Amino acid sequence: MIKERVREILSHIPDSVLVVAATKGRSVPEIEEAIEAGIKVIGENYVQEAEGKFCILQKRVEWHFIGHLQKNKVKRAVKIFDMIQTVDSLELTLKIDKECKTIGKVMPILIEVNVGNEPQKVGVQLYEVEELVKNINQVNLNNILLSGLMCMGPLVDNPEDIRPYFREVKRIFTEIKLKYPNLNSWQYLSMGMSDTYNIAIEEGANIVRLGRKLFG
Ligand SMILES: *Cc1c(COP(=O)(O)O)cnc(C)c1O
Repeated sequence: MIKERVREILSHIPDSVLVVAATKGRSVPEIEEAIEAGIKVIGENYVQEAEGKFCILQKRVEWHFIGHLQKNKVKRAVKIFDMIQTVDSLELTLKIDKECKTIGKVMPILIEVNVGNEPQKVGVQLYEVEELVKNINQVNLNNILLSGLMCMGPLVDNPEDIRPYFREVKRIFTEIKLKYPNLNSWQYLSMGMSDTYNIAIEEGANIVRLGRKLFG
């Protein structure tokens, strides 16, 4: 079932878009089915859950962190993950850089944008993105790669209502690209989930994160 669903969905998504399977709560056998059907990257929300799965799956997939990262979990997170999509402060960035340095790793990171200005959500506000990019860029870290933006988008009844939010995030993404022409790592825009990924791709996303759509 999962295999068929994954193949069907992947066949309709352009090759230029990276599909991250959001695997929180999914078992290793379920994830293995998705991998057999062509999934190359999985996204996990919790370090401890990821560690359990990593013991078995190892490097058969690429690992992206897509949950809220607490500072006291960074040391463990950097061992497993190949990208951290949910950075929302300079402090967290410095911590990731420091822990990566001790294990000789360079970590691509995305800044998480709280695009609906929802107080209960994590992430930086749209107007704070440039400031954070500037601050991270200024300290010249060797063990992180500032690689783009990630956003969740507010909960909406009609998926179409999310389009203006995605458009705003894309606008900031492009602005930063133009403002920092030497920031070669700036290339990923992670937006869109099961109900909204088609709209996200139309608005310029090159990473989508799919859970229910792949696993049911
Ligand atoms: C769970 C999750 C997803 C996937 O959500 P679905 O609606 O199941 O596709 C995407 N991004 C993040 C950060 C998630 O936690």
